[in-house]
Amino acid sequence: MNKPAPITQDLLTIPRKLPEGPVNLVGLTRPALREALIAHGTPEKQAKMRSNQIWQWIYQWGVRDFSQMTNLSKAYRAELAETFVIAVPEMVTRQVSADGTRKYLARIAGGHEVEVVYIPETDRGTLCISSQVGCTLTCSFCHTGTQKLVRNLTAGEIVGQIMMARDDLGEWPRPGEGSGERPRLLSNIVLMGMGEPLYNFDNVRDAMQIAMDGEGISLSRRRITLSTSGVVPQIAKTAEEIGCMLAVSFHATTDEVRNHLVPINRKWNIEALLDALRAYPKASNSERITFEYVMLKDVNDSDEDARRLVQLIKGIPAKINLIPFNEWPGSPHERSDWERIERFADIIYKAGYASPIRTPRGEDIMAACGQLKSATERERKPRREIEARAGM
Ligand code: SAH
Ligand code: SF4
Repeated sequence: MNKPAPITQDLLTIPRKLPEGPVNLVGLTRPALREALIAHGTPEKQAKMRSNQIWQWIYQWGVRDFSQMTNLSKAYRAELAETFVIAVPEMVTRQVSADGTRKYLARIAGGHEVEVVYIPETDRGTLCISSQVGCTLTCSFCHTGTQKLVRNLTAGEIVGQIMMARDDLGEWPRPGEGSGERPRLLSNIVLMGMGEPLYNFDNVRDAMQIAMDGEGISLSRRRITLSTSGVVPQIAKTAEEIGCMLAVSFHATTDEVRNHLVPINRKWNIEALLDALRAYPKASNSERITFEYVMLKDVNDSDEDARRLVQLIKGIPAKINLIPFNEWPGSPHERSDWERIERFADIIYKAGYASPIRTPRGEDIMAACGQLKSATERERKPRREIEARAGM
């Protein structure tokens, strides 16, 4: 019997397909970064070390310019600069609310814009990031849902939002300073901006793996919360491949009401969703699931709703986050009265669950939950309508 031919050096050095134009290194996972270096001529033997060095410059030190990577030879730095870029979304505007919340408008390739919100609190600073431009889903209470999906964000554009915010906060270590020396301004991430993260799974996973990597941004998986409207088949995958904290946009206690508020419920109903959620804490080794519940006057805010809610989630380690509805121009709902919200919270609390009421932050700059919708897309729609009406 013939022995299979040994894999020779020649086979290993066959040039891999080269992408066109400069490749952005931001958003490549560690193996992908190594591959990209090899594909552009870095000898295989050196690639691991070089990619580790470049990784640290990008994610630990916030460097964007190859010429600053002083542990690489000058010739190699020049080669890198010819082939690669280190690019994050461009900050177009920054609004600062009276309560310190910052809302950024970030421009990504194709001229699209997404909103990113930084919320400072006494014990933490949370960055709310987007995973899509617009959303394919049409939850009745959500402003983003009125904007059509334009596209998924790349992994680089997702992790790039974190890097852009760290730039603005002056959060990268200063020369001579260790990376963990100052308390973190940006300590938590929530995937609660525009879009449904589980409809852009691979890019969200890669971006979060980069954010969690210990030799870089180094955020613990317990400080990252992914919020989903209930894409049931992707929930187990989230536990396995990301392992972050999970929040679910629950919002109703009967299929009839949830079908209307969160239309994805018609595909995966409350029972299917709860089954997937029951398995999550163990699979991801995370303590509790956050149930988000937007308080809509006379829609989902009765005492019966509160009682049904605690019945439904029985046995699931949970925290219930009550979100007073944030209005936006033309929104079809009203916010429940404060007494109603407090009464609802009380029923849940007495049943043994934490039931914090989420204080709306940054309302004066339309930065609160569900108010995000990029101005460019906002402008685009009426113009299209005008053109359609004019028969253009
Ligand atoms: N698509 C994901 C993540 C983005 S929405 C999801 O639906 O979970 C983030 C959170 O804000 C969700 O819980 C969503 O239901 C809530 N939200 C949306 N619009 C809102 C509004 N107008 N007022 C309050 N909360 C809202
Ligand atoms: Fe999309 Fe989430 Fe808004 Fe629903 S609540 S429309 S899933 S962004």
